[in-house]
Amino acid sequence: MATTAVERKLLVGGEWVETGDWIEVESPYDGAIVGRVPKAGAAEARQALDAAESAMREPLPAYERAAILDRVAALLTEHADDAARTISAEAGKPMKAARVEASRAASTFTMAAVEARKLAGDVVPMDASPAGAGKLAFTLRQPIGIVGAISPFNFPLNLVAHKVAPALAAGCAVVLKPASQTPLSALFLAELETEAGLPAGWLNVVCGPASEIGDVLVEDERVKLISFTGSVPIGWKLRERAPRKRVNLELGNATPVIVAADADLADAATRLAANAFSFAGQSCISVQRIYIERSAYEEFTGLFLPLVEALKVGDPADEETDVGPLISGSDRDRILDWIGEAKSEGAKVLTGGKLEGELLLPTVMAEAPRDAKVSREEVFGPLCTVTPFDTLDEAIALANSTRFGLQAGVFTSDVKAALRAAHALEFGGVTVNEAPTFRADQMPYGGVKDSGNTREGPAYAIREMTEERLVVLQL
Ligand code: NAP
Repeated sequence: MATTAVERKLLVGGEWVETGDWIEVESPYDGAIVGRVPKAGAAEARQALDAAESAMREPLPAYERAAILDRVAALLTEHADDAARTISAEAGKPMKAARVEASRAASTFTMAAVEARKLAGDVVPMDASPAGAGKLAFTLRQPIGIVGAISPFNFPLNLVAHKVAPALAAGCAVVLKPASQTPLSALFLAELETEAGLPAGWLNVVCGPASEIGDVLVEDERVKLISFTGSVPIGWKLRERAPRKRVNLELGNATPVIVAADADLADAATRLAANAFSFAGQSCISVQRIYIERSAYEEFTGLFLPLVEALKVGDPADEETDVGPLISGSDRDRILDWIGEAKSEGAKVLTGGKLEGELLLPTVMAEAPRDAKVSREEVFGPLCTVTPFDTLDEAIALANSTRFGLQAGVFTSDVKAALRAAHALEFGGVTVNEAPTFRADQMPYGGVKDSGNTREGPAYAIREMTEERLVVLQL
């Protein structure tokens, strides 16, 4: 291990634990070892569940939970630079984007603290029916129980925050399994949570083989909710395997955007160039399919391509870099194959489509057939397609023509057209005159169709992580 690499331990029952076996964390940019963490298995996952169970026997009042969450937000702000460097080192995320992620993670905790302070049930209007008259009823929001959280590599801090912060706000203890490629940010956050005064057992972090730890979370009845963010097949399989738990899925997308001829084309081009290629397109809502009204196609691509070509490709540690590496060589090779396949079916590469050193250049393709992988599957890389359309209905049909439904966007100056698109696009969220890659952490965020079955954002995640308990009083 290089001398600059960090070593972090697992957190189980308030103890920092080693297992005798290690997972080495490699930089996706140059393969350097940037850290190592102990490798856990089923035994440690069960110990983590024991610890979570005993923590929940002594509930923390909402004001204490909120104060801890606020302190974590303050610590994240204080240590934002370390947080961003950790994200960048293990995920290969350019520092610019890593800094945004670190600051968003602090917001996620702040929002969760706000929600913890106002977590309340409803009064039921009992005299609205003859059966209820003469009674008073209200609901309490009870924590659902232990939350099993499984997070992906691409937002190794903020997507962990989106599981841990609402769970703690709701009064649930957590057993977290972060992505094996990026466990350091999760353990960094765990250190801040302990420093913020989170008592033992409320957060437990175990890193290790996904199937082994995943099996424990699926099979152990003490886990009442699994919160999973990751790829489509793994997510839906987990849900199938745990029919008696809540299994909340935040999965992939093949993000479409419609650009009408009456849009501010320069603004659209600027926003889309930034959001198709940030973090090399490895965001679940990275812009992938751009549909442009035919009369504006030449003008839009004329504005868009120079912006794409101006993006700085290189070392993610460099503060000027816009586009860094893909998480693995096999992902890079997969995308090169998809480009080759689309070309063989008639698509044209307008820019990129090849490597610079080991890095895939930002790639824009035209004339991609509708059934090419780049048009219908999630690329999860620095690639987008541009396609002309003639009518808004045609554009909406094209945008809807995938199995995904996370977020979509429309650029237009016609309010009626924007609202029509917002109604007709089959997605969990629609942005107007903003790239659909946009997310603020208090928003309800999640998908329909194959993209998922829930909404994150602390207020919405807390609804999922609590049960309503009805109390009826005879007056
Ligand atoms: P992934 O391969 O599905 O991994 C996600 C997590 O699942 C990792 O912690 C992984 O562990 C774990 N896992 C793998 N196999 C498992 C199993 N059999 N049982 C339980 N857990 C298992 O996804 P990824 O490559 O990290 O992330 C990219 C995907 O996430 C993309 O599809 C992207 O669109 C999606 N995503 C969605 C959102 C959203 O909010 N909708 C946000 C970000 C990313 P290991 O790392 O140990 O394999």
